[in-house]
Amino acid sequence: MFTQAKLKLTIVYSLFFLGMFWLLSAAIYGWTHQSLGQGYISQVREEHEKISPGGFTQTHTEIVTTAGEVALASLRRELLILNALLFLIVPEVAWVLAQKSFNPVEEAHARQRQFVSDASHELRTPLSVLTGELELSLTKTRPVKYYQHVIKDSLEEIKRLSQLVRDLLFFARQGKQLSDVNFSSVDLTDVTGRVISHLHQKSKMKHQQVKLIPDTLPSVIKGNPTFLEQLIYNLIQNAITYTPEKGLITVKLINKKQRVVVQVTDTGIGISKLNQTHIFDRFFRVDPSRGRRDGYGLGLAICKSIVDSHQGTIQVNSKLNSGTTFTVILPK
Ligand code: ADP
Repeated sequence: MFTQAKLKLTIVYSLFFLGMFWLLSAAIYGWTHQSLGQGYISQVREEHEKISPGGFTQTHTEIVTTAGEVALASLRRELLILNALLFLIVPEVAWVLAQKSFNPVEEAHARQRQFVSDASHELRTPLSVLTGELELSLTKTRPVKYYQHVIKDSLEEIKRLSQLVRDLLFFARQGKQLSDVNFSSVDLTDVTGRVISHLHQKSKMKHQQVKLIPDTLPSVIKGNPTFLEQLIYNLIQNAITYTPEKGLITVKLINKKQRVVVQVTDTGIGISKLNQTHIFDRFFRVDPSRGRRDGYGLGLAICKSIVDSHQGTIQVNSKLNSGTTFTVILPK
């Protein structure tokens, strides 16, 4: 789909380079032509007079003029051959340059297409489950309990879809949103405390303990409060999800001179070394059956985007069946 644009760019590059070479050749020829004129004859005469005074005759002038014309004709021929060769080579070089110029655009486009296709796939599955269930319930009259069950299931599916749409919108608007946001002072201890209380019900249901270990000094950074809350929320929510009942989740804040470190550690199922390299990719899930049913593999990709937009880093350290630590470093 970029072929036409590449061809146009190739033509522009070719015209530019060939034009430059032609101009250069014309300049070289013009300059040589000028310097082989009267001035050149006088120069040769002067040199000759030094060796044999008064010995520069009309015949000498004619010889020098003819020699100049021969040299000019040969230069003309060489410049023509050179430009003809360039005429053959430049378009090829221009094509390679055009390909190189389009590489990043093509890559971004391929990523975008992959994202749209993954997103459509993720949306299609719950929508067809929902349609199937609702259609089945309408095939004949059923007891109230059955309808209640179907409505409850449908509602859960709709909630998941809403979350997915919210996550997709995050990525769709990301470019604009993250570059437009005004950063302000954010106290990460406050944000973490708020997130833990939002998730209290979820951890309580699994009899888990979520412990916050703040730094003695306030952990204040420059950032966007909404995105930072989402970052910490996603990490703690994952820790709760992927940790069995009665597990422990620790959130530690460490205040350094120029940055704040946020560490979310759990005693959960862990992530294998191989999967650790993919968990920040969009739509990547280690094994949908081992964790929550409602995950789409976007949570950590969102975390990575937020951390990147704050010029920070995020790392994972994990051991299967033992636990996981996510370490986020954010500049102040
Ligand atoms: P999901 O919506 O599936 O949780 P995420 O992007 O948040 O998507 O996480 C990607 C994958 O990384 C998850 O499917 C899960 O298997 C794994 N993962 C994330 N956090 C943890 C954790 N604390 N412990 C174990 N596995 C985790």
